[in-house]
Amino acid sequence: MNMHMKDFTEIALELPREVDREVAGDIEKESVFVSPMIDRIIVNSDGKTARLVTRPGADLQVATDKALRFLAVMVRQVSGFEIKVFVDTKRKDTGPYQIGVNDGLVERGWMHDYGKGQVAYSGPVLKLAQLINEKSGQLYHAAFNAIDGHYPAMIDADTLHKCGYFDSHPNAVTFVGNVVEDFDAIEEFRLANSCSEGALMPKQEHIHHDGMCLNPAACFPCYPTLTGQKFVEGQCYTWLGRVFRYESRNINGLDRLYEFNVRELVFVGDEDYVRSCRAKALPIVEELASFIDIDCQVQTATDPFFATVSAAKKFWQAAQEVKNEIKIPALGNDGSQKMLACGSINLHGNFFGKRFDFTCANGEPAQTGCVGLGIERWVLAAFTQHGFEPARWPEAVRNRIFS
Ligand code: AMP
Ligand code: ZN
Repeated sequence: MNMHMKDFTEIALELPREVDREVAGDIEKESVFVSPMIDRIIVNSDGKTARLVTRPGADLQVATDKALRFLAVMVRQVSGFEIKVFVDTKRKDTGPYQIGVNDGLVERGWMHDYGKGQVAYSGPVLKLAQLINEKSGQLYHAAFNAIDGHYPAMIDADTLHKCGYFDSHPNAVTFVGNVVEDFDAIEEFRLANSCSEGALMPKQEHIHHDGMCLNPAACFPCYPTLTGQKFVEGQCYTWLGRVFRYESRNINGLDRLYEFNVRELVFVGDEDYVRSCRAKALPIVEELASFIDIDCQVQTATDPFFATVSAAKKFWQAAQEVKNEIKIPALGNDGSQKMLACGSINLHGNFFGKRFDFTCANGEPAQTGCVGLGIERWVLAAFTQHGFEPARWPEAVRNRIFS
């Protein structure tokens, strides 16, 4: 075997066990986190074999061994849990789904893609994002009497650790680095950049991480604020959160961003209260989907956990039915239809109540649940289903976003 190649190389692999399309999709998505030598792993349609694509300069033996270890844990995932559908709205617009929405928005000058999972937007895209945020906020106030809030974009590592994030999604964390408080190190960094053409990073040993991270799930910053409180009656909170997830090479337009916005709703109380809130959230999703006039479903789902814990955590989530997802039909880059996860409705049991020490009426740790709507994905799904012609949009939305 040639150990050092200049180009991308494809190696055929046999999977340790046959997988269905669902597990194959997870393998492909998570494969960007296997090794810097590996570009990605593509599972063939037979579900039994895969193609390992290595990056230039890869040691093929080392890359293959690592890929096989990754596959050995990923194929343990149990899939095929019955998918229960709780909401199924159908749009009135009879026009075709629009292909290439991301490019179309950029061409119209309504979006700028910085290329690293961040976007700027204006015009109809901004107005639609604001409308979805505003409308869901209003619905939450009316149905749940939710209290408004604002939370920081950064979160300390201890809070994330308490939230269990390092255990579930260690690959998605972003640590904030600073130049060490050292006169000479700072001056070296300043001087290096004063005459360079592009930005030069400080030396590795001159960057320190003080345990600040970019917040990767909208609801986390809320829990430390609840410590010591007793929720005799249930309470709901809502806000627009700024969320960051390191998605590596999986970034893709509005579909998969590094930095995005989530309209969050958190419910805190006893088990009955939290379960009743989850039930009450379903007609609200229905109302929002009808307002924008889109095909939309809410169904049982699981999270894309990091490889080594994926099988166990997914199984637990599916068996307990603690995660429902808002899935909106959209189109992939190749024009094929896919279900875009545009929000989730989650039950956490007393996990956060225990960890952050807040209780319900009987003095036991309170239960929590949350609903997170991915604003940019709702925007992408709506433009996919109505296209760029204002006449196809429902009147109330059209008047707001194209005026
Ligand atoms: P989760 O807490 O993982 O259920 O995420 C809440 C919602 O955020 C998801 O349902 C998506 O709509 C949205 N979301 C998650 N990851 C991304 C991403 N990388 N880019 C854009 N939206 C995302
Ligand atoms: Zn949440």
